[in-house]
Amino acid sequence: MSRVKYKKGDEVTIICGKDKDKTGRILKIFPASQKVIVEGINRVKRHRKPTQKDQHGGIKEEERPIHWSNLLILCPSCKKSARIGVRVLETGERVRFCKQCNGIVDK
Ligand SMILES: [Zn+2]
Repeated sequence: MSRVKYKKGDEVTIICGKDKDKTGRILKIFPASQKVIVEGINRVKRHRKPTQKDQHGGIKEEERPIHWSNLLILCPSCKKSARIGVRVLETGERVRFCKQCNGIVDK
């Protein structure tokens, strides 16, 4: 399995599909399927049957996971959508960096 370069709370830009060029924050990551849920992205309407909890049921919109090859991280330093690399610091700490501006993405 490839190293997970995304973290919950990352701001990302969608690079293809119906939500192209939209940005949002990562809400959830599924490393096994290499998918993420991004706030406000890939929303679909789902029909729900009434349950004991929700007596009304009906149509609800919710975000569906998208493959993480469909997004780029929005770099907090240069504010561009960027590919991210991982680098090991002298301290042995692994940090993610922006391949555009070389800035550290992690705080
Ligand atoms: Zn950058």
